[in-house]
Amino acid sequence: MKNNAFIESQKQFDWAAKQLNLDKKLRTSLRYPQNFIQKRLIIRGDDGRIKTFTAFRSQYNNALGPFKGGLRFHPEETADTVRALSAWMTWKCSLTGLPLGGGKGGVVCNPKKLSEKELEKISKAYAKKFAKHFGPWTDIPAPDVYTNSQTMAWMLEAYEQSVGISAPGTFTGKPVELGGHEGRTEATGLGVVITTREAMKHVGMNPKKSTAIIQGFGNVGQYAAKHFEKLGLKIIGYSDSSGAIFNKNGIKFEDALKFKIKNKSLRKFPKAEAMSNEQLLEQNCDIFIPAALENVITEKNADKIKAKIIAEGANGPTTVKADEILYNNSIFVIPDLLCNAGGVVGSYFEWVQNNSGENWTLKKYNDELDKVLTNAFQTVVKTYETEKHINMRQAAYLVAVKRVADAMKLRGRV
Ligand code: GLU
Repeated sequence: MKNNAFIESQKQFDWAAKQLNLDKKLRTSLRYPQNFIQKRLIIRGDDGRIKTFTAFRSQYNNALGPFKGGLRFHPEETADTVRALSAWMTWKCSLTGLPLGGGKGGVVCNPKKLSEKELEKISKAYAKKFAKHFGPWTDIPAPDVYTNSQTMAWMLEAYEQSVGISAPGTFTGKPVELGGHEGRTEATGLGVVITTREAMKHVGMNPKKSTAIIQGFGNVGQYAAKHFEKLGLKIIGYSDSSGAIFNKNGIKFEDALKFKIKNKSLRKFPKAEAMSNEQLLEQNCDIFIPAALENVITEKNADKIKAKIIAEGANGPTTVKADEILYNNSIFVIPDLLCNAGGVVGSYFEWVQNNSGENWTLKKYNDELDKVLTNAFQTVVKTYETEKHINMRQAAYLVAVKRVADAMKLRGRV
């Protein structure tokens, strides 16, 4: 049976709560979302028929600031995946020191089977239905799996129509023309590379002599690949939902991207061996980057991973049991809440500019991103080294959960 992501997230939290000696009431309130909203979206499809979709928003915790987190459009979305992802957002925002809480949303749909017009209708229906729960000081959505800046543009329009005011700070990851920032699209992938760069320094690896395999070729995987190449790494394997490709002599990112754009999938990429996602995970490489969905490194395959570093571009790719195996095999894991935090840190910069009317250059945006993530990495490593016998995820949880718990206490919520 598939692991339940929400139960996994609770196990991670429970460990930290115990270590931090949090009292029972506080533990209970931090184990569940503060609010969970479920609605039905109704649109007219291109064929003239009515289509309905289940939609969620989980507002996990706002002790540190407004709920913040992406929206996924995915056929396998469930209430529990959304709950888990909203918990992870809470810890991620806390770890990186943002004045933001955590949330996440999702619509159960298959974007590959929907037209552009239908996606627009779903996005607008979602923003309208959830409008009263959103706002720059209440809950701020952003793009995630199978959503992008266009989704945010549609949502902003429907939201502003509903509430009758201009409020661009309600959504981040918007197109530049609507108050987005040119750095945001690449921010998550770039952040993966910044934190991996720090990890390589920490374990003493030379990027110019290292190889990487990237699982997932969406926004995170693609820009991580681009920036890994800039750092001098050789990428020897990629995958997408159609399968994987591998060549130990390297596959240039530009070539993979061109092929993907033209053929919609990487499967038949020439000059590379085709294999399954499972086989790709077992290949020799220095850095393995899961950048697709949750629950891909489990007790069943963790032992087969040969990489020295795992950089979690995806949210929740590793189960708690798999974490133990990786730790015993001395694999250095950069946990999701640190590794892929570039996205929400970039979102925070966008929100700050929307609220203040400032306009940062790309250089300032990327320099600040580097500072925030490098600093978060150092904080986690410090805890990892002082605590001893804990992994990097546990170290990150200790820092992140403590900040939220302190904020809860200061507010007198428990
Ligand atoms: N969806 C991204 C994440 O999981 C970004 C969230 C945001 O920018 O709010 O971190």
